Amino acid sequence: MIVIAGAGPKMEKFKSTKTEHCYHCRNNSRWILQKTRYFITLFFLPVVPFRTEYLYYCPICGYSKTLTKKEFEQKVLFEAEPLGK
Ligand SMILES: [Zn+2]
Repeated sequence: MIVIAGAGPKMEKFKSTKTEHCYHCRNNSRWILQKTRYFITLFFLPVVPFRTEYLYYCPICGYSKTLTKKEFEQKVLFEAEPLGK
């Protein structure tokens, strides 16, 4: 029997409803909130999550900040909308 195991990320994206100033590219824009969960996959199906990353980034230059789970959830709840893929 051949077992195909691997690892893959699953992403969820939200767009902030507030304008943020980016000190990197000096633009004002609505930043992206991105939750990335990394999974151990078995036969291409995600089975075990082993790491979650919360990022908040500038859509223009890609400059990002890492958020804690709490900060991320607060932003998603009060100042963001789901973003289509
Ligand atoms: Zn920027």
